[in-house]
This record gives sequence, structure tokens and C-alpha cells, in this order.
Amino acid sequence: MQTWMGILLIILSCRIVSIVLRRFKAGGIILVLASKLFWLFPLGILGSLIGNSTLALFHHSFFLIFLSTPLSVFIQSLYQLVGDTYVKILHKNKLPSMETYTQKGSYILPFTGKWTVFNGGVNENLLHGGSASQKYAYDFIIANDEGKSFEGNGRSVQNYFCYGKEVLAPADGIVVKVRRKSKDSFVDGVAAYCDSLDLRGNYVVIKHHDKEYSLVAHLAPNSITVNTGDNVKQGEVIARCGNTGNTSEPHIHFQLQTGKSFFLSAGLPIAFTNITAQDKGNYSLMDTRPYADNLQVMGNFSYIGRGLEVENAI
Ligand SMILES: [Zn+2]
Repeated sequence: MQTWMGILLIILSCRIVSIVLRRFKAGGIILVLASKLFWLFPLGILGSLIGNSTLALFHHSFFLIFLSTPLSVFIQSLYQLVGDTYVKILHKNKLPSMETYTQKGSYILPFTGKWTVFNGGVNENLLHGGSASQKYAYDFIIANDEGKSFEGNGRSVQNYFCYGKEVLAPADGIVVKVRRKSKDSFVDGVAAYCDSLDLRGNYVVIKHHDKEYSLVAHLAPNSITVNTGDNVKQGEVIARCGNTGNTSEPHIHFQLQTGKSFFLSAGLPIAFTNITAQDKGNYSLMDTRPYADNLQVMGNFSYIGRGLEVENAI
């Protein structure tokens, strides 16, 4: 058989298995394995390079990505690669940083009450990571004192403490983009899945200043109360926290970026105004990653990071 025909057959069969598994939501462990095994792909390349045919078989693990990720999200991952290169060239490889960027707006946290920073920060070891626009993004959850973010078995989005909580506009601005088509991705208290055609799920982008836009993502189905063109005020409720898109569990993904486009913008470090922040007790029970130097306070402004519990002061 021709190699290309073999490859086409593998892609096709992966897609069919993936669709069937997702249809019946029965593929939990298989999807997890597929998403992990995908990373064996470099071994396949190594096998080809050194002429080891057994190792070269790992080439096929590349196709396992089709089991664990909807095709459109896989394509978005490729967009991110291309977009990153564009953004780096545009900024002459010097992306905005805490030292170089002067923030134009004044931003509060996009929620009320105490939330835990689960991803993100301004230091190298705390960065959210991902594409260029997500460099300084934050993932916020609500966790209890035992370091748990849900009750029960975590197999329903309703089990999570943050699910359905109000999401606020972080500053005055004009809504420039809204997506509200996604349903919640399923959760099992362990791994990440994506049941959406967009890795952001439902989201809102607000323009606050020239080259200063915010994005809140993974919003709950039917919860977005604003439309493109609306003017919003700081603290106004714009949606509710959900689990749409590529998520590990319900949370708010929040980022500041240089433009309207998620793929073609650079991420901006965020100095929040008038917030309180302290280390989350028992944080290490839910996250073994180090989180030193996660708070820098400069007068009224705070740069926050993973491991903190944060709240708007007023
Ligand atoms: Zn995130």
C-alpha cells in the first residue's frame, strides 16, 4: 500500500473512533492515553534519523492527537504556531514585559469574592505559557482550605465551586468580540478534554485602550449578557464562569493583549488595581509546582502569580 494511503487511513480511523467516543462520552481513559502518547512522536523522528525501525513506529503516535483533540482545535494550535512567529517578528523578538511595558488602563479582578490563582504570573517560572497572547494570562479557580476545587466526584461542572459565578468587566471599554456557541466540555475530576470547536470556548474581548484588550474565556453556555459594540463599565457583570473550550476544569481564563486577535496579539503583564492577595493556605495540596515570588506590590498596583488567593478590595 502507498504510504500516503496508509496515513489517510490512520487519520480517518482516528477521526471515526474519536467521534464515536465523544458521542457516547465513554472514552475517558482512552482519550487521556491518546493525549499523553502523542508526545512519543519525537521518538519516531529519532528512530527514522538513526535508522531504528522499531523506534520509527512511534511516528504513528502523531495521529493519536486526532483522538484527543477536535480537528478545529488542532488547526487552532497550528494557527498559534504561525501567529507566534508573526508576533515575534512584529515586536522584533522583544515581547512586552513588566520592565518595558507601561500599562494604560486600571484593571480589577474579573470576579467577586476570593479566588485562587492556579496558573500565571509575571516571573519566568510562573508564566501561563501557550501562544504569545497567553504569555501573562491567568487561570482563576475557587478552592477550599483542603486544596479542593470541587465537591463530590467532580464529574459534573456543577460540582465545581467556581462554576456559574459572575464574571466582571475588568475595566471600562467597548466589547469587540463575543463567542457564545460552545457547550460545556465534560469533566471527570482528573484530566482535560475539549468538546468545543474553539479552544477558548465562549469568550468576550473588550477594548479598553489603544493596543490594550482583555479576553475572558471558557464562559458558561447562555451566560454572556453583552454584545459586540456594547460599552461596559468596570465591575459590570458580563457572563458566568463555565467550562467551555479546552479546559482541565471550570475556571476563568483572563488575559490582556495588544490587539483584538487571540492569535496575532502579544500578551501584556497585568498590574491589578486595589486588590488584596495572600498565599493560599494548603496550595501545595492541589499543585506541586513551586510558586515563589508570586506577589509584587507597587503602591496601589499588584502583580500576582500562582499560589495566591486574591480578591478585589472594593
Ligand atoms: Zn488559561
